[in-house]
Amino acid sequence: MTDADPTGNRNTTVYERLGVPTVINAHTTATRLSGGIMRPEVADAMREATQWTVDMATLEARASELIAGHTGAEAGYVTSGAAAALLLGTAACVTGLDPARMNRLPDTTGMKNEVVVPRSHRNFYDHAVRAAGVTLVEVGLSDRFAGAGVRDTEAWEIAAAITDRTAAVLYVAGPDARPPLAEVVTVAHAAGVPVLVDAAAQLPPAANLRRFVAEGADLVCFSGGKAIGGPQASGILCGRRDLVMAAALQHLDQDILWEQWNPPPALFDKARLPGLPQHGIGRPAKVGKEAIVGLLTALDLFVAEGDDARIVRWTAQMERLADGLRGIPHTAVRIVRDRRNGTPTVELTLDEAALGLDALELVRRLQDGRPSVAANPSRVQDGIVLLAPVALRPDDERTIAERVRAILSAG
Ligand SMILES: *Cc1c(COP(=O)(O)O)cnc(C)c1O
Repeated sequence: MTDADPTGNRNTTVYERLGVPTVINAHTTATRLSGGIMRPEVADAMREATQWTVDMATLEARASELIAGHTGAEAGYVTSGAAAALLLGTAACVTGLDPARMNRLPDTTGMKNEVVVPRSHRNFYDHAVRAAGVTLVEVGLSDRFAGAGVRDTEAWEIAAAITDRTAAVLYVAGPDARPPLAEVVTVAHAAGVPVLVDAAAQLPPAANLRRFVAEGADLVCFSGGKAIGGPQASGILCGRRDLVMAAALQHLDQDILWEQWNPPPALFDKARLPGLPQHGIGRPAKVGKEAIVGLLTALDLFVAEGDDARIVRWTAQMERLADGLRGIPHTAVRIVRDRRNGTPTVELTLDEAALGLDALELVRRLQDGRPSVAANPSRVQDGIVLLAPVALRPDDERTIAERVRAILSAG
């Protein structure tokens, strides 16, 4: 381990100076692994952003216009992550534009405080939803997952679960999500209930920036630290103007006199409010100006690069990695593609008996060696190790191939 360098020698990386080893991330933009690699243009914009002060509401209002342009939503907002967007979005659905209610959260006594969710959509990010003070009402029995049947929650069941206590329907988007979002929107809207979509990891394809809004979602959450390539702790909430305004009111610092408060119209309609709430439920999920600027810069670059060019770039790196891994005895290498967005991944299959080493052991040795390599273990039970491009640095593929080769030839 390297000690922090007291002489300030900058021929080292900041992580070397801190004595923290870096990790080659062939897993995903996982939060545990610090997300991905930011483009230099994004890092430069963030650095520049730190050199001035701005009015945060004005900055978020401009972000709203730009996010609206990319998503087709009426309004948008930069959050400290998709999970923070879920918290703010839920809070907005519970309080509407009532500042007294905003001040009371997470105490939701007497308010609409239930969120209906298909049982198969439950996951631990819904802590963020529950943190607003609501109870989740699970609907349906997804027996397709048990192999005992073919059905999942159906739209009529969601309709039947909605009551006058329902603040929102939560929908976690994904290629296997059922029922279709459009059907959920139809029954929710028939009851006057908004639909909040967790689309944190649904990019690419870039078209998904618009898809859920186009399908009628009232609010959509995206992660900024995943494929968009923004700051690790950034995200997007976009959707209906009144709900985004309610979210902003519960997030931005409003420590200002009402008479003095002259908010940007792109985000706030002062005429609709009887007064201003104080610090809201979203305050612990504060966003810095540099994160907003970084997210906006990354979003532009993500859309400008486009899915095709991104796949070509990732495929080239995966082909170099596959070439580096070919010919290791008792292994097979191929490139597989995500069926919905074409993202390439190297699939390394081990003949575990012949190697005397199983796939999980390879994942562990890659992780525990130096440099540490994070591989995806989700298919180790099939003797497969997955290596993905999304969070790699250029040239990482060479080191990965060397490490795999060294481990497998040592036995
Ligand atoms: C990653 C993820 C989140 C959280 O996103 P952050 O930007 O890290 O807060 C929420 N929901 C789902 C489904 C995710 O995959």
